[in-house]
Amino acid sequence: MKKYFILLVIIFLNMASGLRAQDNLDSVLPVRGFCIGSPKPKDVDAFTKFIAEELAPRKVNTLIVRIDYNYQFKSHPEFVADSLTLTKSDVRKMVNACKKNNIRIIPQINLLGHQSWANHTGKLLSVYAGFDETPFLKMPEKYEWPNVDNLYCKSYCPLHPDLHKIVFDLVDEICDVFETNAFHAGMDEVFYLGEDKCPRCSGRDKAELFANEVRTVNNHLVGKNRQLWIWGDRLIDGKTTGLGMWEASYNNTYRAIDMIPKDVIICDWHYERADKTPVYFAMKGLNVITCPWRVPSLAVRQTEDMVNFRKESSKEMQPRFYGMMQTVWSDAGAFLDGFYENKKDDKGGDNTPWNSFKAMYEEINSLR
Ligand SMILES: [Zn+2]
Repeated sequence: MKKYFILLVIIFLNMASGLRAQDNLDSVLPVRGFCIGSPKPKDVDAFTKFIAEELAPRKVNTLIVRIDYNYQFKSHPEFVADSLTLTKSDVRKMVNACKKNNIRIIPQINLLGHQSWANHTGKLLSVYAGFDETPFLKMPEKYEWPNVDNLYCKSYCPLHPDLHKIVFDLVDEICDVFETNAFHAGMDEVFYLGEDKCPRCSGRDKAELFANEVRTVNNHLVGKNRQLWIWGDRLIDGKTTGLGMWEASYNNTYRAIDMIPKDVIICDWHYERADKTPVYFAMKGLNVITCPWRVPSLAVRQTEDMVNFRKESSKEMQPRFYGMMQTVWSDAGAFLDGFYENKKDDKGGDNTPWNSFKAMYEEINSLR
């Protein structure tokens, strides 16, 4: 009898220490994220297994799935798929795996920018060409960068009167399917905004246009008790910081940092250096998450920075240093191949998203 009692006590103490470790990690890094392109239908089961077997044990608590139009939308069947897309039951599998493992799952659809890729027009502007901010600009046969049009990705016109009704139907539907209280709207790398040839936007302040779009999306989400997440690059002044035109803004949108609502979550990505921009966002009153990509040593340094920013800040600032998120820019299937086969990068090196993911989470779990 006594033996059983001791065993019970040991089990209880183990459980308590597990919970304490979790609490401790939550206070050191509230968000421990992983962001990836949605799986193709054939890869859903493998990805669901990855959630349970690789994300959960590493204490990942937030999963962003970049789904865009890789879903069979019921609200707008005009977005007919040109390849196999996920069904509700595919998404359910991911949602259930996350529920079981206490992971918050958040879908992403790119809003504003990223409405085309290379010479391929994205789904929204293929179906609704009128939403194009630069309809006069035809897609090239063969895409090259740099090019005379400064075409990186197309944008939608945020002032088109019919736009938000359709976009918000998609946002609501995907959030409902994901049973989520947050949505990631992308909004990164917006090169076309307030174009001179747009009858609605020409002459307007680009920072205001950007901030208004953030506010419009945020208001819609908040009305449904959902939180807006975006990438941070448009809010950083490229010229002054020297951070380049992808990682920061060269078209004056950066002033929007003082105009957007403070409850928007900023995902601050830096892939070549541990830039200290989280401090900037936090000082502006915004919650910020640092996002590495494929350099393991950098991901570790950025994690250490984030922890130190929290430690060495006032009690007002501390909670705004919100956490870390590994970003993966392929779909889930390609990542899983790399992860399980331990593939090298194109130069035969170890700078890969899977190695960055492993290194970052090793560092995070050493904080417990
Ligand atoms: Zn416009």
